Amino acid sequence: MNNVTPRYVSGIRPTGEIHLGNYLGAVRRWRSLEGVFFVADLHGLGGAVQETAESLSRCGVQNVVVESDHKADILELYHQLSFLTPTVLLGRMTQFKDKSASEMATLSLFAYPVLMAADIFYFGGTHIPVGSDQMQHIEFARDLWDVLRARGSTSFEKPEAVIGDSPRIMSLTDATRKMSKSDPDEMSRINVSDPPDVIRQKVRAAKTSMSMADDTPEANNLRTIYRAVGGTRVHERWPTFKAELVDLLIVELAA
Ligand code: ATP
Ligand code: MG
Repeated sequence: MNNVTPRYVSGIRPTGEIHLGNYLGAVRRWRSLEGVFFVADLHGLGGAVQETAESLSRCGVQNVVVESDHKADILELYHQLSFLTPTVLLGRMTQFKDKSASEMATLSLFAYPVLMAADIFYFGGTHIPVGSDQMQHIEFARDLWDVLRARGSTSFEKPEAVIGDSPRIMSLTDATRKMSKSDPDEMSRINVSDPPDVIRQKVRAAKTSMSMADDTPEANNLRTIYRAVGGTRVHERWPTFKAELVDLLIVELAA
């Protein structure tokens, strides 16, 4: 454990819309934390930077920062870190292993964990509130910190992930994949800005199993979302479950 005042640092890619996975997995917690929450617009080319920043502010997040406003400093640190980063650490990353065989894979797929570590170090993060899919990246930043430490002193704090019981939300159309901004299918995700009728439409269309008792990925995902927005009741049938889920989501996302 760090023996310093926690400083929470976390980021989100500038895809404009914040979806329920981002919100329940990470952004909802950012509202009550002291620190820096940034739009990670150096982690890609282009993007809807202003929309994402506004969307974060509308979610109640304070201290929203745009990463590229600190471009020179962060990229300089990234450059310095690149001389100290053992490539074996990067080669272990799941994202890289999963996608590196594709012709679309670029150098950034390999190197972006270093940029993420540079963000954390630059913004002085001690505690990193992220969704569980980011655990490995924080582990990488910690390993890199150990490397810096072994090579001499470092003025950075060693960061630690703060995941708690934040849920991993899966796609509404394919519950074997996480809900993601990159999914071309709009019906796969609920956005925090979706109006009530769109939320209703998406929840109604979400695949379910035959029986409420079934232990399928789709059913478990809906139950996870239900609990995360405060649902406690036991329903006999999917339609009444979904109706209550829609009500809870509308209240949660309007808050
Ligand atoms: P992309 O597909 O472009 O990576 P994304 O939807 O994963 O986009 P990010 O900007 O990468 O969004 O992630 C922002 C935050 O939201 C991170 O802390 C991440 O852990 C969290 N997050 C993203 N998707 C989910 C999800 N489906 N469930 C829970 N947390 C999530
Ligand atoms: Mg992501």
